Amino acid sequence: MIATKIDGRAYAEGLRERVKQAVQALPSQPSLAVVLVGEDPASQVYVASKAKFTVECGMRSLEHKLPADATEDDVVSLVRELNADEEVDGILVQLPLPEGLNSDRVIEEIHPDKDVDGLTEASAGRLSLGKPGLRPCTPTGCVMLAKDELGDLSGKNCVILGRSILVGKPAALLFLEQNCTVTIAHSRTQNLENVCRSADILVAAVGRPQMVQADWIKAGACVIDVGINRVPSKKRPGKTRLVGDVNYLPSKAVAGSITPVPGGVGPMTIACLLRNTVIAACSRRGWKAPTVLDF
Ligand code: NDP
Repeated sequence: MIATKIDGRAYAEGLRERVKQAVQALPSQPSLAVVLVGEDPASQVYVASKAKFTVECGMRSLEHKLPADATEDDVVSLVRELNADEEVDGILVQLPLPEGLNSDRVIEEIHPDKDVDGLTEASAGRLSLGKPGLRPCTPTGCVMLAKDELGDLSGKNCVILGRSILVGKPAALLFLEQNCTVTIAHSRTQNLENVCRSADILVAAVGRPQMVQADWIKAGACVIDVGINRVPSKKRPGKTRLVGDVNYLPSKAVAGSITPVPGGVGPMTIACLLRNTVIAACSRRGWKAPTVLDF
């Protein structure tokens, strides 16, 4: 069997198109405020790309840059200003913050109704209690891709490899919300390979290059690889390449469907952020949430 390649890039493009349609039907333009502290080159690239896609979808992008020597209080007061600003629908603080700044404290300042990254305690609580709220972007992207591939996920055995706050834990709750039977595996899990082999849907979020081997995968399973790992390139000495947490090529011969790295889960994160911004705007301003964003 050769697995279907799950094209996250194409799905994300379609989702951004749906966001654009949704925005066009709204009474006014939603705004996403992005806070960037310092000069970290990777963060600058992410923020620029978020801004570009926000504008492409017809929303307003408000960039707030603070110098690398900004204090925690400076960042907190900016977040409070954005909370109070009626024009701002979503607030995203680009992580990591420069050393010495406590990102947990800063994130907690974001008003839950504007928490488009879904990272505050209130958002995590709403997810855990099954109440409406803004869901974390990357795990939502995983569920969307699995649903697009498999349809109804009810009753599927879903193994989430990894239990981080950012990916593993929320992914587990989101697949549970889809009526999957969810197992969370981590560094203390015994017989990890056997646990993984029980999965109809295997979500790998460990941050270990190509750790999941083909013989850990049940024949025909749907494999969602969240990992983004930079390793030395075999073909181009001195250069690096990106690989996931799954050994992709051999796994393709066993799985039913699989996300590539790059081009799988990665592109879904920003698309889900844009979707969250529309959802946040609708719920805060009392507009009906556009059904075009359902999945
Ligand atoms: P963390 O390092 O925060 O968490 C890794 C998890 O994997 C932990 O729960 C850890 O277990 C578990 N783990 C580590 N080693 C093993 C092992 N040998 N066996 C079993 N479990 C193990 O990583 P993140 O969740 O933040 O990220 C995971 C990956 O996803 C990374 O490659 C990251 O780059 C990528 N990522 C991609 C995104 C995107 O596509 N946009 C967004 C966010 C992350 P324990 O808790 O026991 O230590």
